[in-house]
Amino acid sequence: MVVVVVAAAGARRFFRELCGASLDLALPSACPACQADSVGLCAPCRGQLARRPERGCQRCGEPLTPSGRCLAPHAVLRNVRQLVAPLRFAGAGGMLVRSFKLGGDALAGRLLAREMADAWRRDGAAPRPTVVPVPLHRRRLRQRGFDQARWLATRLGRSLRLRTAPAVLARVRATRPQGEATVLSRTANVRGAFEVKRPRSVGGRDVLLVDDVFTSGATARACAALLRAAGARSVSLLVACRS
Ligand SMILES: [Zn+2]
Ligand SMILES: [Zn+2]
Repeated sequence: MVVVVVAAAGARRFFRELCGASLDLALPSACPACQADSVGLCAPCRGQLARRPERGCQRCGEPLTPSGRCLAPHAVLRNVRQLVAPLRFAGAGGMLVRSFKLGGDALAGRLLAREMADAWRRDGAAPRPTVVPVPLHRRRLRQRGFDQARWLATRLGRSLRLRTAPAVLARVRATRPQGEATVLSRTANVRGAFEVKRPRSVGGRDVLLVDDVFTSGATARACAALLRAAGARSVSLLVACRS
């Protein structure tokens, strides 16, 4: 039911994007997170948007101890130079991702992309990285109708004025959604799922890998390992939400 509501609001906004601003007068506006009547993100959702600490660990973004140490395990970031994630995957942050991903809500996507761009401008360590989206399998693309990581990567490339290389990675094997109960090992689920199609686009360059969320990190590690093996100098990871 929630998905249906989200999809309806998303479709409404999608058509509005297609038809231009004139439709705004005829269609009621909804908060892109909770779908309540609102122009843009409603005040309660804005209030419960869980932002991650601004001065966290330089590698993983988690809060530091008073003595400046990070206690989070960095093994989840193997081959990843830095993880930048402005929001927690909870409350309004999680709802925005679902509206965007499942409902195709472009306003939710724009808000997430803006949070990501601001966070990268503030914390990003690589100076001029090449933006590469985590790829979606063709079958999933057909089901969903759009590729959320590619959409975000294109937008971020434009707003950060960075070179975008959308077809560097390909998903050559369909994987089950990482959150599904039947997925016992997230690492095994993505093993052999990706391929570097255009190694020359990343050879000797810093790469900024883009996805919507970071949960176990298995997908990002698999992509980062391949990009490094293809000659990328470093791989940083930019996502909207971290669980
Ligand atoms: Zn709301
Ligand atoms: Zn850390």
